[in-house]
Amino acid sequence: MIQLIFFLLLYFKTKPMLNKLLWMSLFLTGFMVSSQNDLPKNKAILKNSVSNHQSDLINISDEIWSLAETAFEENKSSKILADYAEKNGFRVERGVAGMPTAFVATYGSGKPVISILGEFDALPGISQKALPTKEALNEGAAGHGCGHNLFGAASLGAAIAIKELMELGKIKGTVKFFGTPSEEKYFGKIWMVREGLWNDVDVNISWHPSAETKADTQSSLALIDFKVEFYGQAAHASADPWNGRSASDALELYTTGINYYREHVKPTVRMHYHIQDGGQVVNVVPDYSRLWMRVRDTKRSGLMPVYERVIKMAEGAAIMANVDYKVSLISGIYELLVNRAGEEVMQNNLELLGPITYTDKEIAFGKKIQEVTGKDQVGMDSNIRPLELTKDHPGGGSTDVGDVSWNVANINLGVTTAPKGTPWHSWAVVACGGMSIGHKGMLYASNAMAMTMYDLFKDPQLVTKIKAEYKERKGKEVYKAIIPDGPPPIPKN
Ligand SMILES: [Zn+2]
Repeated sequence: MIQLIFFLLLYFKTKPMLNKLLWMSLFLTGFMVSSQNDLPKNKAILKNSVSNHQSDLINISDEIWSLAETAFEENKSSKILADYAEKNGFRVERGVAGMPTAFVATYGSGKPVISILGEFDALPGISQKALPTKEALNEGAAGHGCGHNLFGAASLGAAIAIKELMELGKIKGTVKFFGTPSEEKYFGKIWMVREGLWNDVDVNISWHPSAETKADTQSSLALIDFKVEFYGQAAHASADPWNGRSASDALELYTTGINYYREHVKPTVRMHYHIQDGGQVVNVVPDYSRLWMRVRDTKRSGLMPVYERVIKMAEGAAIMANVDYKVSLISGIYELLVNRAGEEVMQNNLELLGPITYTDKEIAFGKKIQEVTGKDQVGMDSNIRPLELTKDHPGGGSTDVGDVSWNVANINLGVTTAPKGTPWHSWAVVACGGMSIGHKGMLYASNAMAMTMYDLFKDPQLVTKIKAEYKERKGKEVYKAIIPDGPPPIPKN
């Protein structure tokens, strides 16, 4: 009402018609922003900011989608995001923590410091067009089968919206966007954590593309990755095999041991291996073999005894094949520390925004994917889930956001970017991430995260409450990054 009286006074005091029109349009813009979706005024301004950047964010996401760069080789993808942050007034530090594709973009100063994560790496071998049936964009190339093209763009959109609200003088403090590489292979965030990049941050926000929309109250699995190598002696496989000591024999004996051991681990334990080198040709006794081994469990405490055991098995296999062996740690990640106080804030904002709506064309696209992948043809599910109880054993995958969550209070979000039941890390996720179903989820995530960050900037007591829960959940446990000393394993070109 005050706005209306103020406007009428100015309107009738203003003489020229052109000025009257200007005042009228300013008033209408203000009115539209404050009544948008019945959002509180500053949240409506944030939503407006995201919407102003919408076409840029979609372009950024699509470019990263087309590039589909994998672990530590995301040079162009990282640059696209860093450049856009810089263009929007952020101070950008590139190549942090010894990783050329890691960066930090900062705006503002002082407390509170609220940060947001952005991933951008793809998965090898799942190139796909933005079509609901399997068809590679570039045969054998990588694809965004985890939706990280949407991940980075959405988070940057949220950070920029917050920056624009700071410019309007509505909130004070610092917003940081962390460009975090190689989530899929080496877990780049661990090196950033070891560098202490979250030491001055009060609360961190993260999200992940998903087949459902919810404030995420579940943890993720801890894991450890290591390499096992066997060194034997080469010989002709037929002329003098008795002179050979086979590294591939050792490798087979090793995996046999692992597969017998599966019967005796707890149901929460997962073990996977990828044979990277099992010899080159059939007529040579191979003198070298290598596999990448991974052990997971709900918590690190359950993981470590299994890890000790499977390391010992490498020695057993080497003794049997009469070869030498070497075990090298690659990296390991912590389970996620949930923060329910933070998730409640996110939940309120999801309920304010309401579910994503889809066109008939999008629903048909989703159903086609479900038909092809053998799922119920129900389309997308973007209903806001009620806040779930935190399970002791959540199952599912792992994420290096876990390591961040042991160093700063973390709030996590999942947003629908693919139809219900979509097989993850597959062509179907790539397809949705390159078209409007993915774009809608991305923009939605931007809004939800910007609004949640706003609540934190606005209410210091909320930040205190979230930090108190973080401290309590962490308890006496001292975090130590599970990575070897020295620099990250950046591939040499
Ligand atoms: Zn992912």
